[in-house]
Amino acid sequence: MSTTKADTKMAPAAFFPRYEQTFPELSSQEIARMRRIGEIATYKDGEKLFETGKVGPGMFVILSGHVAITQRDGFGHVTPVIDQGPGQFLAEIGQLSDRVALVDGEAEGDVETLLIPPDRLRALLVAEADLGERIMRALILRRVSLIQGGAGGPVLIGPPDSSGVIGLQVFLRRNGCPHHLLDPKVDHDAADLIARYSPQPADWPLVVMADGAVLRNPSESELARAMGMIRTIAKDKVYDVAVVGSGPAGLSTAVYAASEGLTVTVCDSRAFGGQAGASARIENYLGFPTGISGLALTARAFNQAQKFGADIMIPVVVKELDCAREDGAFALKLDDGDVLRARSVVVASGARYRRPDIDKLEHFEGRGVWYWASPIEAKLCSQQEVVLVGGGNSAGQAAVFLSDHAKKIHMVIRGGGLGSSMSRYLIERIEATPNIELVFNTEVAALDGTKEGPLERLWLRSRLSGEESGMDIRNLFLFVGADPATEWLQGCGVLVDRGGFVMTGAGCRKAAGDLTSTLETSVPGVFAVGDVRSGSVKRVGGAIGEGAQVVAALHHFLGDAQKPTL
Ligand SMILES: Cc1cc2nc3c(=O)[nH]c(=O)nc-3n(C[C@H](O)[C@H](O)[C@H](O)COP(=O)(O)OP(=O)(O)OC[C@H]3O[C@@H](n4cnc5c(N)ncnc54)[C@H](O)[C@@H]3O)c2cc1C
Repeated sequence: MSTTKADTKMAPAAFFPRYEQTFPELSSQEIARMRRIGEIATYKDGEKLFETGKVGPGMFVILSGHVAITQRDGFGHVTPVIDQGPGQFLAEIGQLSDRVALVDGEAEGDVETLLIPPDRLRALLVAEADLGERIMRALILRRVSLIQGGAGGPVLIGPPDSSGVIGLQVFLRRNGCPHHLLDPKVDHDAADLIARYSPQPADWPLVVMADGAVLRNPSESELARAMGMIRTIAKDKVYDVAVVGSGPAGLSTAVYAASEGLTVTVCDSRAFGGQAGASARIENYLGFPTGISGLALTARAFNQAQKFGADIMIPVVVKELDCAREDGAFALKLDDGDVLRARSVVVASGARYRRPDIDKLEHFEGRGVWYWASPIEAKLCSQQEVVLVGGGNSAGQAAVFLSDHAKKIHMVIRGGGLGSSMSRYLIERIEATPNIELVFNTEVAALDGTKEGPLERLWLRSRLSGEESGMDIRNLFLFVGADPATEWLQGCGVLVDRGGFVMTGAGCRKAAGDLTSTLETSVPGVFAVGDVRSGSVKRVGGAIGEGAQVVAALHHFLGDAQKPTL
């Protein structure tokens, strides 16, 4: 595909709602301080400082000249983003962790810059409190602008309500990756591409990468690789700590451990944020009196962990833990065949949503059966009646969130009331929401729809009379609890309780002798935090607290001389 030259007219400052914070200018004193850690790099007119889809060398501070930042998509369109001059710096949040650039930067005339590689940039953010805060805020706001503008990421082409499109959209959104969706029915670019690739039904969605490469119905992992999200592991690297799971517990462990000087890697099979990332509004997390979405809370933690230098790998599934420690390190076997090695392991793999026993449930997953309620699903049920199953807090939050979008929510609960399973504030809110109807002593019996099509109808069964009634419903939300994600621990000697939750501390003392920490499992050096841990409180606050707490035990186990001084 040929690339068109960008219109030289850059976006006006008014295009960026927080322009001053997104593109701040550094003072000469600040630049003078940064000279100690940077290297001078010069560019001639038209030379690229960094390119979309390639790992950039770090952050550039412009000393003289101008750089045009443009966004390029796989169709050959080039869109101007902004022009930056002396005193301004070029980077976005991905540069903290050697991720690929999402935009192009091209010299306009001769340009002299100070290049600060990622490791020194991270050190600067930590060492220079005020300057670090301004730079960090700018890096985050730049990513937010790219996400809001759908700029700099892959273009998905497919019917907006197809399960493949929705699945990839949710994956990209949950991972903070900008992307853009084209509907083949209405968009010319999409129509041209379809004519060229003649996709079969199984090829949807097509995904067009910035370099013009086209993927047919890629898995999340294939897309992540094509986007440069997954890095290759250095064969001889042994981390101090490997954390499995990047929900609140795993991210908290990463932030505290990395900020206290330990080398940390974090793996997650899907997205940062875990279950909390699916929460529309967390109202009981300390310090957020107006509530905060789980995604917003955990995105902050994700950026914070990267600022302190944690290596985060997403999406990567840990298939097996080998505790033999033949060469002194634990070995974590990954789904792509790679092996991660670490001197200690923190199990933070949380829990996975439970699938109730409903006829044809799997058939309609992604086509009307949902286990979370994000803005993407909310849009799909705009002005429709939906059924939501569950009587716990997560069900309550989802019902309140969806009530702003759907015409009516039928909230189906197995028991005869909400009092024992839901917080009082949520019960009050549900009772005050006119379009939520509570249906007690009831369960979903069966689902129906055409073979390849969406959910069209479901049957509810009264648990008191056994009577069944049909409803025309296209969206069913299930919030019926979760089981621990511990299958990858089988055979490694880590004890679990009858429910499959990992036992720690006194619970497994008998089997393993004296333990140093209440968070240590039956295998010395393997710790467990958050929802996956037997006896934990299954709350965001609890998970984060345990992540902070486990770091002292890690220091103890690793015999680290640099204990935190508080
Ligand atoms: C919809 C919803 C709303 C909620 N609302 C609230 C609320 O308002 N307040 C509150 O306090 N709590 C709330 N909770 C509960 C809260 O989200 C959890 O207690 C919290 O997320 C637990 O954190 P965690 O890190 O222990 O585990 P999780 O959040 O479950 O994260 C575990 C992570 O591990 C990853 N993982 C699992 N297995 C593997 C593997 N083998 N390899 C790699 N990665 C793996 C998963 O992909 C996941 O990202 C809510 C939960 C849900 C589902």
